[in-house]
Amino acid sequence: MKNRKKVCVLDSSFFINIGVSQVLKEKCFTTPEVVDELKDSRSKILFEVYLSSSKIVIRSAPEELIKEVMEKAESMGLQISKTDASVVALALLLKKEGYFLKLFSDDFDLMSVAEAFGLECKPVTKKNFRGAARKIRYCPVCGRSFSPGFNKCPVCGVKLRVKLKFFRRKRVD
Ligand SMILES: [Zn+2]
Repeated sequence: MKNRKKVCVLDSSFFINIGVSQVLKEKCFTTPEVVDELKDSRSKILFEVYLSSSKIVIRSAPEELIKEVMEKAESMGLQISKTDASVVALALLLKKEGYFLKLFSDDFDLMSVAEAFGLECKPVTKKNFRGAARKIRYCPVCGRSFSPGFNKCPVCGVKLRVKLKFFRRKRVD
């Protein structure tokens, strides 16, 4: 495990939220879907900085891996876009190839599904990511919990509330 190469995987929020002065030391990866999402000039400039210094590799994740990530997210009651899923899928692919990686993101749902796959996440600006969580829909009256398809308690007829149930965090290092 000692000699594995360290890399960073970056999602859209990395380029949108981080300061231009903070260029990462490690080699970085992102997906073409993320590049397409960078619309504002600031995030585009930061991306250009990474690209021109050969710090970033743009690589597609296999469709079936993206699908697997989206299905996992759905089963956890999380909502992630295909772009977010592509980032997690790319991280999984790189991990399989033997890279030691950190996934940079500020998206709670993305980080939750990534951690559920055993990936190490690093928040870009938010310091308080508590680890992966499952979103639980529950009835405030009777306390029963329901799967993501339900909006109302079929017993009491009241609108369900959502709470986060955190998984116990595993140390990876
Ligand atoms: Zn109820």
